[in-house]
Amino acid sequence: MKLYSTNNHDLNVDFPTAVFNSMPLDKGLYMPVNIPVLDQEFIQQIDQYTLPQIAFKVASALLDHAIPAADLQKIIDEAFNFEAPVVPLEAETYVLELFHGPSLAFKDFGARFMSRIMAYFLKDGEQLLDVLVATSGDTGGAVALGFLGVPNTRVTILYPKGKVSEIQELQLCTNGENIHAIEVDGTFDDCQHLVKQAFADEELNRKLRLTSANSINISRLIPQTLYYFNAYAQLRRAGKKEVIFSVPSGNFGNIAAGLLAYKMGLPVKQFIAATNVNDTVPRYLKTGVYETKPSIQTYANAMDVGAPSNWVRIMDLFNQDKAALQEVLKSYSYTDEETLKGIHSIYEQFGYIACPHTAIAWLALEDYKKENPQENATGVFLSTAHACKFPDVFSEEMSSKIQIPVHVQELSAKLKHAEKMDTVYDSFKSYLTTFY
Ligand SMILES: *Cc1c(COP(=O)(O)O)cnc(C)c1O
Repeated sequence: MKLYSTNNHDLNVDFPTAVFNSMPLDKGLYMPVNIPVLDQEFIQQIDQYTLPQIAFKVASALLDHAIPAADLQKIIDEAFNFEAPVVPLEAETYVLELFHGPSLAFKDFGARFMSRIMAYFLKDGEQLLDVLVATSGDTGGAVALGFLGVPNTRVTILYPKGKVSEIQELQLCTNGENIHAIEVDGTFDDCQHLVKQAFADEELNRKLRLTSANSINISRLIPQTLYYFNAYAQLRRAGKKEVIFSVPSGNFGNIAAGLLAYKMGLPVKQFIAATNVNDTVPRYLKTGVYETKPSIQTYANAMDVGAPSNWVRIMDLFNQDKAALQEVLKSYSYTDEETLKGIHSIYEQFGYIACPHTAIAWLALEDYKKENPQENATGVFLSTAHACKFPDVFSEEMSSKIQIPVHVQELSAKLKHAEKMDTVYDSFKSYLTTFY
């Protein structure tokens, strides 16, 4: 597999280089030089394949022999050992539940694949890989659980004190082994700043082999394509032919993967990017002006992104052709108040409890249907997290009905450990170099 940089189409690196660097030096993003189109026969018969089979077909087409088939199959079987069901709410509305992995968020797909790919490419006797990650909640849990016990790796997670939910904190601080959590007395931006300083610190980089696990890594994007194919397979089994996906979007990695799947031949009639008030993309699609803003805090905090990092990938997938993109992609944004109403409305209509991000995707699907009354394709909105990770938004009645999965309930019996730290870079640096 060859990859180029969105800032330099002449650059040409192999897959392991893109995985370990995460970002090219020119600060573009890596994209596959060749986007393979899957054979029509496979798409036509996709209803006969299981999730691991679909995952293998999609990943091996993209990776193009970067990993031998038997090894790739093993990585896939280990990484995707949980379900991604489409659940019907009404005749033409389904929810694609992506929260059945260990951290209860869709980021498990990316993080579990990435950790295994990195471990695979690390050769025996090579220097230990130090993964640094700043998190506002969901990323840290997925990365921690993705790398837990993976040999030759060590993960340091920075999270803002008092700003992650109880379950998220448990997922970050109860792992032990090769996972270390740092509770920073500051904001998510402070955490991110500390990590960025570490990556830019030449002295530190001579001592440690640092890598980032953030969502721009190509090995997180690739596995996100497969659940779109797998959802389509399930809908075909239910007798559906045409599909619309509505995706809760923050950094736009999830929907970028959906659009990549589309370019690989997945028949999707429409994509909808659903955002909160961090509405850079819906504004762009409406006005043609791409203007980023500082992020605004909302209930759907995993989507609080003012400058979505994967947007350049989407523009590249469509050769910068905005009109072509607008054909396939619509976008809507919602306030916190609308989000709460959405959560209650889904519950009242279907008895379904959706996390704030998921509710936003449902609202966008509803608005799209209202604007396009002739549309008869089946609507699927993506549920990116389990409701129990965002407990503050539900009524008492709803909270009492949320079933916390057993493996998460068990975390509360475990010992929580996080290093407490200020926002001064020297504290972080000396932790990394001396306290381990
Ligand atoms: C990360 C996350 C998102 C946003 O996904 P992107 O790929 O950044 O667009 C949405 N919902 C939840 C629950 C998340 O954790």
